[in-house]
Amino acid sequence: MGCTRFLPLLLLLITLVCCAQPAVYPSNEVNLLDSKASQGELGWISYPPHGWEEISGVDEHYTPIRTFQVCNVMDYSQNNWLRTNWIPRKSAQKMYVELKFTLRDCNSIPMVLGTCKETFNLHYLETDEDQGDKFREHQFSKIDTIAADESFTQTDLGDRILKLNTEVREVSPITKKGFYLAFQDVGACVALVSVRVYFKKCPFTVRNLAVFPDTVPMDTQSLVEVRGSCVNNSKEEELPKMYCSTEGEWLVPIGKCLCNVGYEDRGVTCQACRPGFYKALSGNMKCSKCPPLSYTNQEGAVHCSCEKNYFRAEGDPVSMACTRPPSAPRNVISIINETSVILDWSWPEDTGGRKDVTFNVLCKRCFIGSKQCEPCRGAVRFLPRATGLTNTTVTVADLLAHTNYTFEIEAQNSVSSLAHMLRQHATVTITTNQAAPSSVTVIRKDRTSRNSISLSWLEPESPNGIILDYEVKYYEKQEQETSYTILRSKGTNVTLNGLKPDTRYLLQIRARTAAGYGGTSRKFEFETSPDSFSISSENSQVVLIAIACAVAIILLTIVLYIVISRCCCGYSKSKHPDKKRLHFGNGHLRLPGIRTYVDPHTYEDPSQAVHEFAKELDASCIAIDKVVGAGEFGEVCSGRLKLPSKKEIGVAIKTLKAGYTETQRRDFLSEASIMGQFDHPNIIRLEGVVTRSKPVMIVTEYMENGSLDSFLRKHDAQFTVIQLVGMLRGIASGMKYLSDMGYVHRDLAARNILVNSNLVCKVSDFGLSRVLEDDPEAAYTTRGGKIPIRWTAPEAIAYRKFTSASDVWSYGIVLWEVLSYGERPYWEMSNQDVIKAVDEGYRLPPPMDCPAALYQLMLDCWQKDRNNRPKFEQIVSILDKLIRNPGSLKITASASRPVNQLLDRNSTDITSFSSMGHWLESARTLPCKEAFSGVSYSSCDTLPKTSAEEFKKVGVTIVGPQKKIVSSIKALETHTKNGPVPV
Ligand code: AMP
Repeated sequence: MGCTRFLPLLLLLITLVCCAQPAVYPSNEVNLLDSKASQGELGWISYPPHGWEEISGVDEHYTPIRTFQVCNVMDYSQNNWLRTNWIPRKSAQKMYVELKFTLRDCNSIPMVLGTCKETFNLHYLETDEDQGDKFREHQFSKIDTIAADESFTQTDLGDRILKLNTEVREVSPITKKGFYLAFQDVGACVALVSVRVYFKKCPFTVRNLAVFPDTVPMDTQSLVEVRGSCVNNSKEEELPKMYCSTEGEWLVPIGKCLCNVGYEDRGVTCQACRPGFYKALSGNMKCSKCPPLSYTNQEGAVHCSCEKNYFRAEGDPVSMACTRPPSAPRNVISIINETSVILDWSWPEDTGGRKDVTFNVLCKRCFIGSKQCEPCRGAVRFLPRATGLTNTTVTVADLLAHTNYTFEIEAQNSVSSLAHMLRQHATVTITTNQAAPSSVTVIRKDRTSRNSISLSWLEPESPNGIILDYEVKYYEKQEQETSYTILRSKGTNVTLNGLKPDTRYLLQIRARTAAGYGGTSRKFEFETSPDSFSISSENSQVVLIAIACAVAIILLTIVLYIVISRCCCGYSKSKHPDKKRLHFGNGHLRLPGIRTYVDPHTYEDPSQAVHEFAKELDASCIAIDKVVGAGEFGEVCSGRLKLPSKKEIGVAIKTLKAGYTETQRRDFLSEASIMGQFDHPNIIRLEGVVTRSKPVMIVTEYMENGSLDSFLRKHDAQFTVIQLVGMLRGIASGMKYLSDMGYVHRDLAARNILVNSNLVCKVSDFGLSRVLEDDPEAAYTTRGGKIPIRWTAPEAIAYRKFTSASDVWSYGIVLWEVLSYGERPYWEMSNQDVIKAVDEGYRLPPPMDCPAALYQLMLDCWQKDRNNRPKFEQIVSILDKLIRNPGSLKITASASRPVNQLLDRNSTDITSFSSMGHWLESARTLPCKEAFSGVSYSSCDTLPKTSAEEFKKVGVTIVGPQKKIVSSIKALETHTKNGPVPV
């Protein structure tokens, strides 16, 4: 053996460089043989025996290892074999052989040239069993010749160190049960440091919650398809599959498993939800915390159970908090109107945690004096319905008059049906009022004669109380209700006297109870008898004279009635208390179906009128907040009125100051007696009076924005024309109602209109003679009365002809006030000048930007002949048309209005006038520039830019905003172009 002297060098190098890392193999490699793992002799066969030598050494961790060396470089014809033990192949077909070795460079060994080799050969032999020591060289197949990559490596210091080579070779396919490896040396100096034989597998793995087992790939190039199985507590969503490559890698995961309900995905396992958590759906989401008012005590919960007294409605998601029935509705109030009641309540304090709250109303009729109740019968109507109400109000109609009812109002939600014990309701008990009686339906004719007829009738089917009397209204059929007579009867019969013979009459009856008038009966027709005697020729003259006398007497009577009825505002009382006769002539025609205003002065005892028309309020129901104005009789305050079982409302309270006289008290309360007769959205509503305690008060609805004139002045030019027309329409509608009632206001002006928070205008300030006393605008006329000159029609000023037509004139002035935002009509012209100018036919000019249609309406209201003025009904309809057609309001009066100007005097110097009124009065006939002879501007177009200072310079003191002066001046200019045309 010529090699041994080189061996120490070989081994030293091995220990220096070998195995710098501990042996950690990839997880997809399965070792069949690892020489390093064996610490005893490996027992491999060397052939011939002096060829390869087994040597013990240590690796860098000083772990003993077994190596084989051969180094017969000096001799020719070397053929040294080293055979491993039999290696069973297990399930693998393709093997890998990893060799770690050192190989000496022949150049580094002196005198070996020609014999030294630098390679060795790797062989294998497949067998089904271990053949023991039997070794036959020719049975082996060569795998490869193994050469060193680099035999030596130069160190930084110039030393040469031996490098450890690693070579891997594949052996495949192996089909027999096992095999041997053999290393053939042909004359190299080689040390085999380690030999490892392994195959590759796809290792056990969990993907998408599916388990894939260890899989050994096939020898071929194809992939092995492997089906996964779902981990515990999960189920297949889509068949899980993967492919195992020949390199032992898993490829292309397909499909997945999902954790079952109650289990959550923890990456490679499905774990049960902890107590207090739940999972209702299968899927890889996490467990959720139990929603409020629910719990779980166990692991793996699919849903949480509701806490005591809480529920889940069908269809509620499991993620929703548990809920309970709502508490009872609150603050139930009832507003009784005869035999119907409006129930109104507040939303329950606790809705039970749900939004689907509705209300059910149960009606029970209860017997007075006993606690017994029974369900209301079917005739009772609920509006909109009794159950499933989404709003907090219901109207119950068609109840019986004077009856006790109990209403149970329950708030419900979707869990109410699950919790009968927890359901609550609010209860309200009411007693229905008197209702107006129903109509008289049966009228019978008992007896007729030439001049009279006796009739009787049956009581209405539902009197709804004690019938106080019946009103019998009749008129000649051919007169068409232009003149009619009214009788009152306490009984159910009446005799109509003084009728014309042989004439057809129509008659209607209505009953009256404390609740008011019932419905009017249908028209009943009857005819008086013809004259029973014929007129002979000799008597004819006498008869004619008699008839003429009778007619004259009748006519005289009618004229007398008209005069009396007019002077007493259409009402006269008969001496017989049970049969009062009212008669209206043509002049005081009332529309059928509309109540007539009753003058409180016609009552012998005026306090009776107050109590007939105004409700007496208990002072304890009224809370006064603050003073908002001053009336003639005392302060006007704002406050609140809370009547039992009614909502609290804001009210205005007029007080009668201490130390009043009886006349003052009567006059103060007369306003309530008048107001109490009205019921219209544009008339200030009377809530009641306090007369039984002091101070005496009149309580009306509260109008947040106070009087219209100051309201407009405060909001100058801030409204659209449509808003202004809307306000005007309201005033006209209220005035129509008053005129239909036969009430003449006499003091209609913006200061007597009140405005609420919704801009609704209501007519106020009702009174009798005191109306005008109260009004600071009222002035004494030559005839003695006090009159608000600027608002009053000429005939009313001249001879106190106050009618609805004179109210229309005043309405025209209100129109002007509204469109000029509270400007004072005729500015500060004196009353005398106003009377004179108006009498001469001149009228106020259109306010700035006034729509032509509205200015035309003003002019119509200011027609001298009152019969030519529009009626309030027409005014309402004109305004309605304008509102419906706002385009018609775009044409402004200054551009197209009829020429119609104010006052006529010949004066040219603006500076010589002390007031705006005087100036306007004088300037009317002048061209614009002449009128402004003292002012430093050249064109009337620049007028709007002219400052107040400049106006002042020329002596113009302005009451209203400057733009209104400009409007007046522009009007003047237009006027001067067209020439004055008095109306
Ligand atoms: P009168 O005595 O009716 O002219 O009222 C005097 C003042 O009290 C009015 O100009 C209003 O400012 C105020 N006033 C009267 N009635 C009401 C009401 N119903 N609402 C609000 N303010 C009112």
